[in-house]
Order: sequence, then structure tokens, then C-alpha cells
Amino acid sequence: MTDPSTDSSTGPSTDVTDKPDATDRPDATDRPDATDRPDATDASAPRDVVVIGGGVAGLSAAVFTARHGFDTLVVDDGGSLLRRNARLENFPGFPAGVNARRLLDLLDEQAANAGAERLDARVTRIARTGDIAGDDRRFTLETDAGERFRANSVVAATKNEVGYLADVEGVEIVDRGKAYVDVDERGRTGVEGLYAAGRLARKPHQAAVCAGHGAEVGVTLLEDANRPFYHDWVAPEGYFTDRGREVPPGCEEIDATERRERESAALDATRERFADPHPDPQETHPSLEE
Ligand SMILES: Cc1cc2nc3c(=O)[nH]c(=O)nc-3n(C[C@H](O)[C@H](O)[C@H](O)COP(=O)(O)OP(=O)(O)OC[C@H]3O[C@@H](n4cnc5c(N)ncnc54)[C@H](O)[C@@H]3O)c2cc1C
Repeated sequence: MTDPSTDSSTGPSTDVTDKPDATDRPDATDRPDATDRPDATDASAPRDVVVIGGGVAGLSAAVFTARHGFDTLVVDDGGSLLRRNARLENFPGFPAGVNARRLLDLLDEQAANAGAERLDARVTRIARTGDIAGDDRRFTLETDAGERFRANSVVAATKNEVGYLADVEGVEIVDRGKAYVDVDERGRTGVEGLYAAGRLARKPHQAAVCAGHGAEVGVTLLEDANRPFYHDWVAPEGYFTDRGREVPPGCEEIDATERRERESAALDATRERFADPHPDPQETHPSLEE
């Protein structure tokens, strides 16, 4: 299992050629190496975090846990509600709107760049197998393809699907016409190490709200794991050190050259991602499909 306490990771660990090169960044050698990570299909590999559901909430949670160096696996069966959206016009940062399937792709890419793995599958069951925080055997998960995973923490972000939680004592399911998981103000369920995010946690039905909640749950998970106060900030060179302060855990300072290089790479990547209409067809409500 990755030990983030010995790692000052703050950024991507996957080598993506059209992204800023992680190996060029300060402290790149301290980051968890994606090649050391368990293969998503290696059922025996224990995970720090398994995120169930790769919609906006689950992927946002994964970005934060993975950027911190937590070995994160996202299991998703491809049915985000956002795929049915015709045009997303209220997501912060896109004043002209954005194709919702494009946004999901970008979030997926961001989680991968941070080091998260993805498995296309449906989780059918979770069982609690241990009680000790930090023990990667706290939970066992099973998928419809028969894979089994062990995990220290689980983030459930599956809109209104809760069937796989049936065997977990201590999780309260709330029925409001649809099923939700009862959580505290930070997304914790009644079971230590098990969180719920986004629609499943009864958050309002907007993509930005659910994404924000996923991020909050990711950070909460890190806090509960007793990680030092978590910034996940990229600051200009000298921001801390010129004031005689250490760069805090989860932060990095970058100089002007590095900043320009990252911006240039980001501009190239953004141009490419938005060069053409998204190839996926518009999805609709399942009841309207033939
Ligand atoms: C037609 C339509 C239009 C919309 N338009 C807008 C809009 O314009 N603006 C806006 O802000 N919001 C819009 N929304 C709402 C928005 O899509 C949701 O609020 C948001 O997607 C909820 O995010 P989430 O991550 O909680 O759930 P989702 O995005 O639905 O993600 C849940 C994920 O969990 C996966 N999953 C479920 N069960 C399992 C399992 N057992 N194992 C593995 N994976 C599983 C699903 O496949 C899915 O990928 C729209 C929704 C619809 C239906």
C-alpha cells in the first residue's frame, strides 16, 4: 500500500505526453510511480481507496485522493446521468457551456493523470472485513465480472443505486422515492472508512454541486486518515519559502519557467480536446430507448 505520509506528492504521476511532464516538476521523484501501482485488473491488489461510480462526484473524489498519493481505483459501469445532458451550461468555468460527455472524459483523464486506475465494471457487493483504519482489508468488493478487491476506504458515488451496500451493517439508506445514503456534513456514513458522495448523498441535482461534494469527500477521507492539513495547492516560487516557511505538505512552489511550460502544455491539450464535437451520441432516459 502506498504510504502518503512519506510522500510529498502534489501532482500527476502518470506520464501523459500531451500534459506537463511530471518528471520535470519539482519533487517529481517523490511522487508515487504509476508503474508501481497495482493493475486495475489485479484482483488481489489491495487499494487505499476504491471509488464506486465514475460520474462527476466519484471522479472528483478520485482526483483528490490520487493526487495525494493514495492508491485509488475507480469502478464504473458507464451510466452517469450527465451523459443524458444535452448541453451543460451551468458548470463553473465554461461560460459558453460544455458538452457533458466531454466534461466526463476530461474528469476521467484528470483522475488518471493524478494516478487513479479505472475499471469498467459494476460493483455488486461490499462486505466489511476489518475494523482497523489503515488496514487495506477493511472492505472487500465484488463486481459483476467476479473480480474481488480489498480496500481501506470506499467512496460510494452511484447516484441512486445502493443494492451493493445491503450487507454493510451501519449504513443508513434513506428512501425518498429514490434511495440515498445518510451521511454527515462531510460525506461520512455510519461506517468508518465508508463515504458517500454526490447524488447518492442527497446533494442537489447539479453537476457542479456533486463534483464539489466529491472533492470535499476526497479531502475528508484524507483528513480522517490523519494526513497533515491538506492544501493541494500550486503556489508561485517563494510564496512560502520567501517568508521563511517550509512548503506545506500537499503544496508545491513553481518558478516562472515551470509555470509557462505547464501553461503551454495545458493550452495544447485543451485545444486538442475541444477541436472537434464529441463523438458519443446523445443519450436519453432508458425508458425512452427502444
Ligand atoms: C437529462 C439530464 C440533464 C441534466 N442536465 C444538467 C445540467 O444541465 N446541469 C447540471 O448541473 N446538472 C444536470 N443534470 C444532473 C447531473 O447529471 C447530476 O446531478 C450529476 O451527474 C450527479 O453526479 P453523480 O456523480 O452523483 O452521479 P452520476 O453522474 O450519475 O454518476 C454515478 C455513476 O455511478 C455509476 N454506478 C452506479 N452504480 C454502480 C455500481 N454498482 N458499480 C459501478 N458503478 C456504478 C454510474 O454508471 C455512473 O457513472 C442532468 C441530468 C439529466 C438526467
